[in-house]
Order: sequence, then C-alpha cells, then structure tokens
Amino acid sequence: MLLRTKVFLAVFLIGVGLSAFIFFVWMPGVEANSRDNLQLHTHSKLVITGEVLVPHLIQNNLANIYDSLDALLQTNSDWVSITLHDKGGNLIYPLSIQAPPDGLELQTISHEVKVRNVVFGVLTLTTDVGGPLSVVHQQNVELFRILLVSLAIALAAILLMLDRFVRKPAKELTIAADYLAKGNYEISLDTRTQDEVGSLARSFQAMRDAICENEKSLHTAIEVAEKASKAKSEFLSSMSHELRTPLNGILGFGQLLDFNPKEPLSAHQKQCVDHIMSSGQHLLDLINEVLDLARIESGHQKIELTSIPLAALVTECVQSVSPLADERAITIKNDVAEECSVVADYTPLKQVLLNLMSNGIKYNNEGGTLTITSEAPRTGWRRIYVTDTGPGIPEEMHNALFEPFNRLGKEGSNISGTGIGLTVTKRLIEAMGGNIGLNSADGEGSTFWVELPERSVAN
Ligand code: ADP
Repeated sequence: MLLRTKVFLAVFLIGVGLSAFIFFVWMPGVEANSRDNLQLHTHSKLVITGEVLVPHLIQNNLANIYDSLDALLQTNSDWVSITLHDKGGNLIYPLSIQAPPDGLELQTISHEVKVRNVVFGVLTLTTDVGGPLSVVHQQNVELFRILLVSLAIALAAILLMLDRFVRKPAKELTIAADYLAKGNYEISLDTRTQDEVGSLARSFQAMRDAICENEKSLHTAIEVAEKASKAKSEFLSSMSHELRTPLNGILGFGQLLDFNPKEPLSAHQKQCVDHIMSSGQHLLDLINEVLDLARIESGHQKIELTSIPLAALVTECVQSVSPLADERAITIKNDVAEECSVVADYTPLKQVLLNLMSNGIKYNNEGGTLTITSEAPRTGWRRIYVTDTGPGIPEEMHNALFEPFNRLGKEGSNISGTGIGLTVTKRLIEAMGGNIGLNSADGEGSTFWVELPERSVAN
C-alpha cells in the first residue's frame, strides 16, 4: 500500500472517529445539559411565583391570584399553562384545564407553595422548551459542520505536505537507487533540506561516491591482477616449452639405455635407469599439465563447440584407460546410451573424461569397479557420471579438490599424480559452458560428474 494511501486512511479514520464521538456523545450531552439548565431556570421562576402568591393564598384573595397568574402567563411567552391546586387537590386556577396545543416540546414542573412547612397549595407549570433546545441543536449542527470542513482541509494539507516533503523525495531516492544498481553514478539528489529526508539524501550521495570509488579501485586491481596472471601464464608456458625439449632427450636416451640388446644393463644400472625413466615421465606429465593450465589461463585454449555423440567418445576413453584398469583388476562399466550427445569441443571433452576415468582407476580399490552413466538433470542438459568404488573423499575436502597442486595428502603415496588434473578439468569444462561437481563421502566411493548442453544426434 502506498504511503499516501496509508496516511490518508489514518487521518480519515481519526476524522470518522472524532465525528462519531461529537455526533453521538458530545452533541446529545450538550443538549441534555441545556434541558437541565432550562428545568432549573423554570423551577426558580416557579419558586418566585409561589412566594408572590403566598399573601393572596393566606387571605384567600382569588382575584389577586387570578390577576397575578394571568399577568405571568402573558409576559412569559414560553409558559404554556400554569395551574394552582389547594392542599386538598382542588383546582384554584384556572377555572378549567385545557389540553396544550400539539407540536410543542413540553416540560412540566410542580412546586409546593408553603410557609414554615405549612403547604398552601401546589403550582404546576408547563413550559415549551422546543425553542431554546432547537437553538442549541442548531448551534451544535453548525459546529459539527465547521469541524468536518476543518478535518477535510487538514487532510488535504497533510496529504499535500506528505507528497511534497516525503513521497517526492522518496521516489527520487528510489530512482537514484535503481540507477545505482545498474551502475549509473551520474544521478544526484536534492540535499539542501535540513530535515531527515535531506540527511537520507546526503547519506545516499556519500554511499554512491564510496561505491563509485570502490568500483574504480576494483577495476584497477582487476586490471593489475589480469596483467600479472597473463605474465605468469606466459612465463609458465615458455618455461614448460624450454623444459620439455631437454626432458624428451633424457627420456629418449633412457629408453635407449634400457632396450639396448648389445649392451645389456646390470641389475643395479637397470634399477637406476628405471628411476630416471619414472621420474622423467612424472616431470613430463607435470610439465604437460602446467602447460595445459597456462594455456587455458592465458586464454590461448581455443574452444570450438560441435555436437558430439557421447557413447562413441566414452567407448574411446574406456579403451584408452583399459590397460591402467587391467593393471589394478578394475572392471569398467559403460552405461552411456547410444542416442546421447553434447555440445562441446571434442579434444578438451576427451581430456576431461580421461582425467576423471584415470582418477577413478588410480584412486579405486584393487579389483573395484568404475561405472560411466549419463542422464538429463534438466531439460536441454546432459550429465555424465564417473563413479568409482574407492575410499571416497570426505566432504570437508571437496572445495580443495579443484585447487592446483593440492593432492589432498596423496603426495606421499605410491599413486602417481601432479594435483593439477582436476583444476585443468574444471577450467576446460567451464570454458565449454558446462559445470563439474561430485558426490562423495568418506569410505563410500566417489561420483564425479560433468554436465553440458545437450543436442540430440538427429540434429
Ligand atoms: P592427481 O590425480 O594428479 O593427484 P587431480 O587434480 O586429478 O590430481 O586430483 C587431485 C586429488 O583429488 C588427488 O590427488 C586425489 O587425492 C583426489 N582425487 C581425485 N579423484 C579422486 C577419486 N576418484 N577418488 C578419491 N580421490 C580422488
């Protein structure tokens, strides 16, 4: 509900309440009061009349009684009738009682005429109070009208002031906040008023300036960080190239030493050459993965999205990792349906799947199982699951999994690895517009999944 409507309703309800109070309580109260006052006034006149009549009553002078009461009836226009009865209840004045005319508002008061507790007669006066009471009523109605008009004027004035001093600045503030949310810092507010609205506008301006400043420094920091990251990636990339050439030489000559039937190696020499070969291979893997990471980070990784039939790709990957699985007696189950396909770049997607599958074999229990399945998690998407029956990964380690060079404590184990594979995997899948995640708990195996936009093979 709008602020203006709320205030209108509040003032309106107060007005209605006040009017009801005046109309139903205050006005009847004033009228009842006036009636009581009239009664008192009439009563005092009756007392005086009684005192005037006492001597005539004592002397039983009926002529004077008639003259006095006739004269009083004539001079008091509001008197409708006056009667005098003797103490026995016999009518003294007038000669006969006539019914009062219709349409009058009558008030009747009786008074005993007595001297020293001796009652000489009873006076009964009937007056018409309609005239004075209707004047009071008229005045009340007039007052009520004035009150209603004043309330209407007050309501209009309050709404106008509210509009001018609260609603308009509040609307400007909302527009300014919307602009700010869209990153436009140009809009400015009227900060001249010295009330609460003015101080709100000044606080808003200060906040806007601070956000603007922060954004500028954030942009500068991002630029610096991007430059540094690019320089780092280029350095890594060139270093990796430089290292690969001599390393390939070392591995080549190692192989020559190992397989030279003319000069067979002694058992000790063979052990040393095997060490050179496995360390050299590890170094080459490391360099290759650092090179991959550097290429992705420097933005040199080209991604060309096409529709790739999934079952064929998974079969190819399963064939590649089969020798590794056989070494550890691991059974691979490929349950990916023929008709599935995803939108991705073939080589990076293959690298992603190979990495997840080789991890599922490396970190599996001897004789375990590796299962590859797929499903549509939501319309337009296809998710590929790689599930192993290994030791699993405790939940608190899940975030660290994708950090480069973090092997989650496997550094000392005899399982070879560099700790970069999952980092590269995550960057590649995200570069293709997909997502990666896992479900795993300590001791319950792991399921790594990647998802990509789907397109049916028919398309
Ligand atoms: P690498 O395998 O070369 O060490 P990765 O980045 O592929 O590097 O994996 C990082 C770490 O995550 C591994 O060292 C291992 O501790 C853990 N990990 C990855 N895959 C699995 C898995 N399927 N089961 C258990 N642990 C895993």
